[in-house]
Amino acid sequence: MALERLLKGFSDFHLGYYREHLDLFERLASEGQSPKILIVACADARVDPGILTQTVPGELFTVRNVAAMVPPAQFPPDARHHGTSAAIEFAVRGLGVEHVVVLGHALCGGIGALVDGRGSVYADYDYLSTWTSIAQDTRDLVVQELKGRSRDEVARAVEQAAVLNSVKNLMSFRWIAEKVEAGTLVLHAWWFNMTKGQLYAFNSATAVFDPVVGFTVEPTVGRGTALSSITPERFVAAIAGKKPAF
Ligand SMILES: [Zn+2]
Repeated sequence: MALERLLKGFSDFHLGYYREHLDLFERLASEGQSPKILIVACADARVDPGILTQTVPGELFTVRNVAAMVPPAQFPPDARHHGTSAAIEFAVRGLGVEHVVVLGHALCGGIGALVDGRGSVYADYDYLSTWTSIAQDTRDLVVQELKGRSRDEVARAVEQAAVLNSVKNLMSFRWIAEKVEAGTLVLHAWWFNMTKGQLYAFNSATAVFDPVVGFTVEPTVGRGTALSSITPERFVAAIAGKKPAF
C-alpha cells in the first residue's frame, strides 16, 4: 500500500504539477540548476524543506541527514566518504549559492538519541551515535547547564544549540569562510517547531531563537560577524537564565 501511494502520487505529479510547470522543467533541463539557497535539513519524514518553504524545483539545493548536522571540515581532506561535506562543497563552490540555512526541528529523533546517550534505544546502532556525536560537546554543555530541567526542555535546547554548532562548523570550511568574508555568502540558523507550524531564527543580539515574523530575517553569520556571538555556549547561557527556558 505504501508503494502504491507513492506511484499514485507520481502519476498525479506527472499529470498535474509537471504539466502545469512544463516551462520551468524545460528551462531547468536546458539551462541546469542555479539555486541561490542551500538548506541543510533533517531526514525526518515530517520536515520536508520544499513543502515547508513552498518552493518550486530548482530553488533549493537540499542536504538532508540525521539531525540536520554539518560536520567540521577535515583538513587536509581524508579518503573517507563525506556525503554531507561533498554536497555542501558542490552547492557553495560549484553552484555559488548565496545563503546556507541549517534547519533543525522540534521532536528530532536524532537529537533525542544524542540527548539520551547510552539510554537511547538506538545506542547500539552501527552509525547513528558516531554521526550525532558531531554535537556531543554541545549536548554535554546543555545537559550540564540545564540540570534539573525536563528532558523535553533539554532536548529542545540541544536541537537549537546543535544548529548553532553546525553553523560554526560551516565556517571551518575555508571556501565558506572566504565567501562569507567576501560578502557573497551568509549563513542562517533556523529551527522549525512542528507542533505549532512556526519557524524560528537565531537572534544574534539576544542569543536565543525567535519566531520569524514577516519576510526578512537577519543572517546568523555574515561578513564581519564575530563567531563568539553565535557559539552554543552563548545560547545556553542565555536560555539557562530563563525559567522556563522556553
Ligand atoms: Zn530530526
